[in-house]
Parts: sequence; structure tokens; C-alpha cells
Amino acid sequence: MKKLELYFHIPFCVRKCLYCDFLSAPAAEETKDAYMEALLQEIRGRAETYREYLVDTVFIGGGTPSVVNALWIERLLETVYQCFSVSEKAEISIEVNPGTVDGEKLYRYFAAGVNRLSIGLQSANDEELKGLGRIHSWQEFLETYRLAVEAGFCNINVDIMSALPGQSTDSYCLTLEKVLKLTPQPAHISAYSLIVEEGTPFAEMDKKGALQLPDEECERQMYKRTEEMLKRHGYERYEISNYAKEGYACRHNCGYWRRVEYAGFGIGAASLVDNKRFQNGRSLADYLANPLGCRGHIQELSEKEQMEEFLFLGLRMTEGVEENGFWDAFGKTLTEVYGAVIEKNIADGLLEYRNPEADRGRRLVLTERGLDISNYVMAQFLFD
Ligand code: SF4
Repeated sequence: MKKLELYFHIPFCVRKCLYCDFLSAPAAEETKDAYMEALLQEIRGRAETYREYLVDTVFIGGGTPSVVNALWIERLLETVYQCFSVSEKAEISIEVNPGTVDGEKLYRYFAAGVNRLSIGLQSANDEELKGLGRIHSWQEFLETYRLAVEAGFCNINVDIMSALPGQSTDSYCLTLEKVLKLTPQPAHISAYSLIVEEGTPFAEMDKKGALQLPDEECERQMYKRTEEMLKRHGYERYEISNYAKEGYACRHNCGYWRRVEYAGFGIGAASLVDNKRFQNGRSLADYLANPLGCRGHIQELSEKEQMEEFLFLGLRMTEGVEENGFWDAFGKTLTEVYGAVIEKNIADGLLEYRNPEADRGRRLVLTERGLDISNYVMAQFLFD
């Protein structure tokens, strides 16, 4: 059976963080209930399409999925098990934010089959949290973490952010240190740099010069320190911004970077099936009126687009892309298609081959320097 990843989008939050451009908003309880009912309808209505697939990962994301009643998460997973063939070893993740869960809710997630928890912390500094518009403090995060461990979770991710307004390298490192002192240490840490996205309050503040962002050098230091400190504590960097203890890389995200097929449910959720990409509409009202009628434009990917994605996504991971995999997918060698770009970037010290002796079994990976400027390198794999 072919592998499939499932994504469920729950677009609700207690309130909007100042930097966030995700499809999420606060909503009344009745709206949340109606949405969850519609989501179950969409799952039941579409599952038949995927009867030849075995579900390998499930990701309940948002938004803040933990703002809906725990009963909905239980019903969601029940429906998934009823409607799909799910691998016994499936990774089942949910995103939660401190301030939206208690011990009972976490325990109910665990009992329902969730085996991976992703907690949004962002910073251990309360001033920085306030500046981001987060709803929680460091203490509340600590409580959530403690309750999660108590509920039985051993596969926990903690999200942190660098390059925050007013943040110094020292302050950022203090966040890292505090996270590393958690008992037990988190199995996974995602460390992203803040990006000021158009249309957010941060973008407005930035235009008025009211956002004191760290300069490029400071940002680079934070990035380097992340890698050094996490490496010292036994984390392997397996993707540009993701670090994990051995065996705890997020399978759902790795599948996405390896172009495993995925099906998304809920507003704005994207899918990639049979080399066709499609996305649900973003309107909550339309979705509530007809959850099965909101599928947007279906884009059939050309071979060139598939090749671009193969490189663009694969190079994000430190394991890089495998020559054999490229051949299997396209019946052409990597060198045949991208020889000149690869040669140039190897000469510039940005790419290298791992396992160079193997015949077509080599892996093309970004070097340390290449990882630092990965967007520049990856852009060169786009066809004009
Ligand atoms: S909690 Fe996450 S999804 Fe919700 S507003 Fe904040 S950053 Fe956005």
C-alpha cells in the first residue's frame, strides 16, 4: 500500500499573535463546534478516495487545535480510524499552546492515540512573549510541559523563535538553556527565525520603525549558537530549523520534504496526491455551508515542477537528496538535469556529495556554509 500523511487544520486561537499570518482566528464555541462537525463530514466524504493508501502520519495543526473541546479530538481520531487504514506505528501529532490545556485534556489526547505533542513556547522570557502577543508565560509553559510528561508523552517538540524584537543573543541563549534544562529533555526542538510577514501587526510596526529587530550579525550568531548548544546536548540537526534526539525526527515533516503524498482537511489545507496539488478554500463560512465543496484549483505538476520540488524540499534535510531516488522518480540522472548547477555550487563550497564512491547511490547535501544560505542555493534549482 502507498504511504499517506494526513493533515487536519483547526483554525482557531485564543487571540492572534502579532507576528502570525497563519489561517487562524479567535471564534465562539458554537463556531468551533460547527467547524469540527464539518471537518468530520469532510473526512467521511473524502476518505474513500484514499482506500489504497496506508496512513503513516497524522498531524493536527492550526491555529491552536487545543482550543477545541478534547471530545472533538477524540471524535476526529475515531473518525480517522474508521475511515482510513492507519499503520499500527503511525505517528500522531497535535499542536498545543500553554494556557489552552490542562492535565485531563492532555491525558485524553494520549488515550485517544496521540503520541507526539508539539508545544509552542517561542521564548522563555516573559517580556519577549508579551512583545509577540503570546497568551502564556514561561511558568505556564513549564506547567504544560510537566503535565504532558505526566500524561505519558515522551515524544515532545518545543517550538522556539530567534531574532525577536529587542532580543539579544544572550537572551536567546537563555531560552535555549532553559529548554535544555527541562526534565526530561524534549525529544525535538524546532528553532525558527522570526520572519515579519506582510499583513501582520508586526509588518505595520516595522514600517513605522517601531520594531527593533536584531541585526544580521546578531541573527547569524543566534543561528550558530542554536546548532552548537543543541549538538552538545545530543540533538541532531536533521533539517534547516529542526533538531531531534536519535529516532525522534518528525516523520510527518520528513515525509513532506521527501514528497510523500499527503491529504489535508479543513480550511486552507493543502494536499499532494498523484502529483496533483490542491488546496481547500480559506473561507470559514463557505466551509461550514459545504465542507465537501470547498476544494480549490487542482494543479497538475509538470515534470520540471516535480524535479524542482524534489531538490527544493529534499535539500532542506541534512540527509539531502539521493541520486537513486531522483532516477527512480524521473528516469534521469541528477547530473543530466542539474549538472552545471551542482558543479558550480560544489566549487563554491555550498554543496557536496556524501558517499561519493557509490554508483548513483550518492547523496547530494548542503555543506555547513550551504545551509547558512540555503535559500540562495535552492533558488538555483528552479527552471526559468
Ligand atoms: S498561537 Fe500560533 S497560530 Fe495562533 S495566532 Fe499565535 S502563532 Fe498564530
